[in-house]
Amino acid sequence: MDNVHHLSERVVTDFKKAREKYEIYGKFYMFLSDKAREYLEDKSQEYKGCLNDIQRLILPIVKKVCPICQPHCCRLSTPERSIYIAGSVGGFELCDYLLAQCNTTLPDPDYGKAERNLCPFWEHGCTLPMDCRSYLCIQYFCDELQQELDMKLISEHLRKIESVLNSFSIAECMV
Ligand code: SF4
Ligand code: SF4
Repeated sequence: MDNVHHLSERVVTDFKKAREKYEIYGKFYMFLSDKAREYLEDKSQEYKGCLNDIQRLILPIVKKVCPICQPHCCRLSTPERSIYIAGSVGGFELCDYLLAQCNTTLPDPDYGKAERNLCPFWEHGCTLPMDCRSYLCIQYFCDELQQELDMKLISEHLRKIESVLNSFSIAECMV
């Protein structure tokens, strides 16, 4: 019981940090120069293209297996599985946040979900557009999904996304 209480407190602390980080990302995006936005637009198209490609492989399987399992997806409603240890809301780092946010209106995170240890973008599935997920989220496959998907093909697509991220320069966004 003590352990559960401790974990619940940890969820709240982690969540606060995750929210602060996400809000800083939003401010960074708002103050980008025109030149930085131009650079970001090209890279964003590349990132979103890769995400659309991988989602075309994943979605048919998600549609098949997930409705049976929800609303217990990944048991996130238990403190043992804190989503907020991802470090930021939606699992975003600054790079993939900028690439996803570019020229898109992302849904407002529902921070009320923090108390239930649910991702602020979860509402019977992810509320983010399918090409606007973080690299962390797009890499996650539960056992059921892994059994159904061609994981070799998925890994090839993940490597392409990783290479877009590796070639992305935050310095170019600070000009
Ligand atoms: S991703 Fe996995 S755990 Fe989550 S709803 Fe789908 S099948 Fe269930
Ligand atoms: S896929 Fe969407 S709902 Fe799931 S953890 Fe990532 S942002 Fe949250």
